Amino acid sequence: MANRVFNFNAGPAVLPPPVLERTAAAVRELGSCGMSLLEVSHRGKEYAAINQGAQERFARLTGLEKTHTILFMGGGASLQFYAVPLNLMPKGGKADYVVTGSWSKKAVSEAKRVGTPQIAGTSEAESFTRIPKASELKLDPAAAYLHYTSNNTIYGTEWHYVPEAGAVPLVVDASSDILSRRVDFSRHALLYAGAQKNLGPAGVTLVAIRKDLLARSAADLPPMLSYAVHADQSSLYNTPPVFAVFVVGLVLEWIESEGGLAGIEARNRKKADELYAAIDSSSGFYRGTAAQDSRSAMNVTFRLPSEDLEKKFLEAAGPEGLAGLKGHRSVGGCRASLYNALAPEAVSALVQFMREFQRRNG
Ligand SMILES: *Cc1c(COP(=O)(O)O)cnc(C)c1O
Repeated sequence: MANRVFNFNAGPAVLPPPVLERTAAAVRELGSCGMSLLEVSHRGKEYAAINQGAQERFARLTGLEKTHTILFMGGGASLQFYAVPLNLMPKGGKADYVVTGSWSKKAVSEAKRVGTPQIAGTSEAESFTRIPKASELKLDPAAAYLHYTSNNTIYGTEWHYVPEAGAVPLVVDASSDILSRRVDFSRHALLYAGAQKNLGPAGVTLVAIRKDLLARSAADLPPMLSYAVHADQSSLYNTPPVFAVFVVGLVLEWIESEGGLAGIEARNRKKADELYAAIDSSSGFYRGTAAQDSRSAMNVTFRLPSEDLEKKFLEAAGPEGLAGLKGHRSVGGCRASLYNALAPEAVSALVQFMREFQRRNG
């Protein structure tokens, strides 16, 4: 790709170049099987190895090999908003939700179809600019589970601690910061993430569920929505998104080659520190929207002095090879997504552009 840009899109998002190369080769021919990746049967031995390899790699990276089952499901993280309560909440039961942005709100709406989601904490009154402190959470020990959103893609906030749920199973939507840093994954009973931000292409959602929770899936659930059915069939109940799972497997291999989660975390920390430092040293020209203690290392949201300047900034960025810097349509402003695969050079180029733009317009 001669004209590859620095891709700051929020999702689908940048992928590691070696993964793209290997994917392109596999689209031509998968190994030496005489077929394209796009042509193989999901019941064949090639896909069996891809499916199992990706599940095992994810479990290894998170340390969940013994305790959790890894599933690949369709429907995006949005389907999990419904699948989680459907499987884990008794009909008419209750569960705790910490609401830190639009995605958590959507999760709450879906839970209402099954029972009563209780708001255990929220920063909505402060326009979701921060993550509630542990002392602010009101947790119900009788809740079916506690749900939180570890990174708020739209508002640029991220949890810097894992909430203490006691004996209540902890559920996390980690769509936009999955495998971006070291986390005590074992404290989570269920973890889900759409692949298209940090794990691969659109089309597959990863679910890691603690094995004892599989017993909660009622036998009469629609099979496509039942964790127990997908677990029982190793994510082969129906035709899986073969292509997407293949690419996820390569991304997991790439993460291992970057030094695993410790290596990825250091790389991500450095990128985020560089960008936030540029914002903080701009004498207020650039203004970060998230509270200091809640800043996301994945989605850096910022404003300029006026909407006109923001428009000009975004228009000038494109020709400089800086793509995808527009904030989410619901909040406006600018957003730089710094997912795992984004090269550190992309952030340096952005920071240089920001300084130059301020010099000309400040
Ligand atoms: C993008 C995103 C979603 C929605 O994912 P889909 O795969 O489009 O359904 C949910 N939660 C978070 C935190 C996200 O960033």
